[in-house]
Amino acid sequence: MKAPSNHPLLNQWVQECARMCEPDRIHWCDGSTEEYNRLMRQMAAGGAAIPLAKRPNSFLFRSDPSDVARVEDRTFISTPSRIEAGPTNNWTDPGELKRTMRGYYKGCMRGRTLYVIPFSMGPIGSPLAKIGVEITDSPYVVCNMHIMTRVGSRVLAVLGTEGEFIPCLHSIGAPLAPGQKDVPWPCAPIEQKYISHFPDENLIWSYGSGYGGNALLGKKCLALRIASAVARRERWMAEHMLILRLTDPAGRRFHIAAAFPSACGKTNLAMIHPTIPGWKAECIGDDICWMKTGPDGRPYAINPESGFFGVAPGTSYESNPAAMDSLKENIIFTNCALTDEGDIWWEGFDGPPPSHAIDWKGKDWTPGSKRDAAHPNARFTAPAAQCPVISQDWEKPEGVPIDIFVFGGRRRRPPTSARWATCGATLSP
Ligand code: PGA
Ligand code: MN
Repeated sequence: MKAPSNHPLLNQWVQECARMCEPDRIHWCDGSTEEYNRLMRQMAAGGAAIPLAKRPNSFLFRSDPSDVARVEDRTFISTPSRIEAGPTNNWTDPGELKRTMRGYYKGCMRGRTLYVIPFSMGPIGSPLAKIGVEITDSPYVVCNMHIMTRVGSRVLAVLGTEGEFIPCLHSIGAPLAPGQKDVPWPCAPIEQKYISHFPDENLIWSYGSGYGGNALLGKKCLALRIASAVARRERWMAEHMLILRLTDPAGRRFHIAAAFPSACGKTNLAMIHPTIPGWKAECIGDDICWMKTGPDGRPYAINPESGFFGVAPGTSYESNPAAMDSLKENIIFTNCALTDEGDIWWEGFDGPPPSHAIDWKGKDWTPGSKRDAAHPNARFTAPAAQCPVISQDWEKPEGVPIDIFVFGGRRRRPPTSARWATCGATLSP
C-alpha cells in the first residue's frame, strides 16, 4: 500500500521498520468505522474475536495465559546513564537493549500485516495534544487504538510534512511460516517480552505481548512514561490521575485530579454517582491527566485518551452504574467469561452467577468450579463518549482548571465489605 503521508521522516521510519520486520503487507490506518468493522470481521472469521449476541457490535477476546497484564519487570527505561531512569525503573543500556531487540524484530512480522496507526493523544489540534504513530502487527491492537485514541487520516493531516510525532514500534513477536495456521492470541514467551522506552529519543519499542498497556502504546508508554520526560523538558506534567468535575448545589464547579495505582478503582471514582443531594459529578478522564499552567496561573488538564480500558471484575450496577451503561454496545472485552446466552460475565457482576459459562481460558465453568470465570485483570475497552456521565467539556482543547488533588495508595488486602468496589486484581502497582 502506498503511503498516504507526505511526511518524509515518517515514511522513512515506516520503511526502516518494514525492512527489519519483513511483513507480507503494509496497511496505513485511516481510522474509519469501515476499517474497524473489516478488521473485526477478519478476526471473528479467524476465531480470535467472538461476537456477543447480547451486545451489538461487541466482541470477546481470550488472551494467551502468559499474556494477561502489563509486566513491570519486562518494562525498561533506557536512558544513556542509569541514574536518569530514576530509582524505581528497570534500566538497560540503550545500545545493548536495541541490539537485543533488533535481533527479535528481524523478520518478526513474516506472514503478517504491518499496520501504521497515526494517533493523537488529546483532542486533535489541542495545544496540549501530542501525536504518535504506532506500527503493529496486531489487528486487535488497531481496533483497541481506534477506541482508546483518535486515529487516522485526520491525524496525518495535522502532522503535515514536518510535524513532530512519537514513533512507537510494536510486534506481538510471532511470525508465521508459509502455510502455518495462526493461533487466536499470538505472542512471544515471557522472557522475550520487552516494553522499552528511550526517553532521550522520544522512542518506544515493544515486543512480544499483545495485552493492554504493553501493546496499546499510546497509553502507559506514551501518555505516561515518554510524556513525563517530554513534560519535564517542556514544563508541563503527565500524571496517572483521573479527572472529575464536581458541581455543588450553588452551581460552583470543582475539578479534581486523583492519583492511585493500577486497579485501585480510579475508573469507579471517575464515574461516581453522588448521593449527597444537590451535588453533581461528571467524568473527564479515568486514568491519565496531562496538565499545563494556563494564562491565569492555574493548572489546566486534559484527558489524553478517548476510551476506557477498565478492569472488568468488580464492575457492576452496584459499584459503577455509569461504567455498566457505557458497556452496552461497541465494546471490546478481553478475558471475560462467556455465558450460554452470548453475553459476558465476570466475578462481581450483578445478580446470581450463570449456571454455566465458558471461562477466560475457553473451558467449561460452573459456579462450583474452584477457579475464576474471568481473569482478575479482564478488561473492557469502551469509547468514552458512550459514558452517560461524561462531561460535555471532556474534549475541550484547553482543558479544565484543576482545583483539588487527591493521592491514594493500595491496601495490601482490600477491606472485605468493599472487596469488589476496590477490585480484587493482584497486579504490581
Ligand atoms: P491500568 O493499566 O490498570 O493502569 O489502566 C492497564 C494497562 O494499560 O494494561
Ligand atoms: Mn492506569
